[in-house]
Amino acid sequence: MSTAMIVIDGASVVTLDQGRREFTTGHVVAEGNRIVAVGPGPAPAYDGARVVDGRGCLVAPGFVNTHQHLYQWVTRGLAADAGLFGWLTTLYPVWAGIDDESVHVAAQGALARLARTGCTTAADHHYLFPRVGGDLLEAEILTAEEVGLRFHPARGSMDLSEKDGGLPPDSVVQDRDEILLATEAAIDRWHDPAPDSMLRIVVAPCSPFSVTGELMREAAELARRKGVRLHTHLAETTDEGDWCQERFGCTPSEYAGQLGWTGPDVWFAHGIHFDDTEIKRLGQSGTGVAHCPSSNARLGAGIARVADLRMAGSPVGLGVDGAASNEAGSLIEEMRNALLFARARGGPQALDVRAALEMATLDGARILGRENEIGSLEVGKLADLALWRLDTLAHAGIADPVAALVLGTPPPLELLLVNGRPVVEHDTVLTVDEPTLAARVTQIQHTLIAKAG
Ligand code: ZN
Repeated sequence: MSTAMIVIDGASVVTLDQGRREFTTGHVVAEGNRIVAVGPGPAPAYDGARVVDGRGCLVAPGFVNTHQHLYQWVTRGLAADAGLFGWLTTLYPVWAGIDDESVHVAAQGALARLARTGCTTAADHHYLFPRVGGDLLEAEILTAEEVGLRFHPARGSMDLSEKDGGLPPDSVVQDRDEILLATEAAIDRWHDPAPDSMLRIVVAPCSPFSVTGELMREAAELARRKGVRLHTHLAETTDEGDWCQERFGCTPSEYAGQLGWTGPDVWFAHGIHFDDTEIKRLGQSGTGVAHCPSSNARLGAGIARVADLRMAGSPVGLGVDGAASNEAGSLIEEMRNALLFARARGGPQALDVRAALEMATLDGARILGRENEIGSLEVGKLADLALWRLDTLAHAGIADPVAALVLGTPPPLELLLVNGRPVVEHDTVLTVDEPTLAARVTQIQHTLIAKAG
């Protein structure tokens, strides 16, 4: 571990610490991978430290993305006007052609975009493992290491195909025993429970309509035996609700509950169509939700009851989802959309700007079980932070820097530190060559579409 010291001086600071302290002018100091000082006024002098001039900027905790599918970065823009089930059935045949090289390039693109938009920790949900594709989980894990983000890959799976009443075609599903063995092997090989871990595995069957109940139940048992978290898609559309009613005579969340899927170690992507009773139960059990406003709007799925879920006690983080159902792939835009959609749905008190920032950072950390390590700027926490420039024409004249960050257009990103390491400087991702990568992304998309015929 390098013990390099970086001093950010003269910036506005939003800490999200227990006292929710904010400094109009303050400093943050990182040594190695930890924060060693946060406070008002100028930073003390440190011998040999790199000093970053933070004047005109806001330093905030790095964003935590709680739901996405990195591999989809190379399949964006397809079925642009379809709802979820139509979108999925168009895309499954294209996705059937992915391999380790396409996942590598897609993950580079998606993760670089996340970094460039202030994200320091990314959860990914990967549920497609074509038989001849190579080791796709390894491909995305090595890519996250290369790009430099803290990574929580969720080992997804599908074992319920069309012939058994599910939505996906036979070509993209796997056998249940094979899935459980591969998931356990992934935990044994990759999961790092250390407090400054850059990599934690999650167990994540895809969704009720692409997975058998047996797999859901056994996946929950596996995750608890191994001490890792559980994630799946739930209550995204009314079609899914109808499908569960017809097949099981209950709602998606009741179905998930019967299979052991409730508790603070579980988080659901979307969670749009919950009634009052379901929200109360989720809140009481501490079950989390990854709110993905752009994807939900793109697919016309609805708007999650974020204010009600938060009030009930459910941790609600943000996810960009997509990439193929949210072409932007930018967490800062999810934060703005979360606020706007919550107010459009529930009135002006539904979500304030600081709560929106908290969802994008600390609540996301809580969902991943990492609220003691990341999500706020505090001495002893990991040095995952973003320095946003707020003195250009886009943001000059917005009185409150937090409001500028949440309500304004995405600002230039001066610096992004992940685990103390600069990953973005002056709006440039240091770990990829963007023009070369963009050309490669286009090439791979053409190949996948041609393969699907
Ligand atoms: Zn998703």
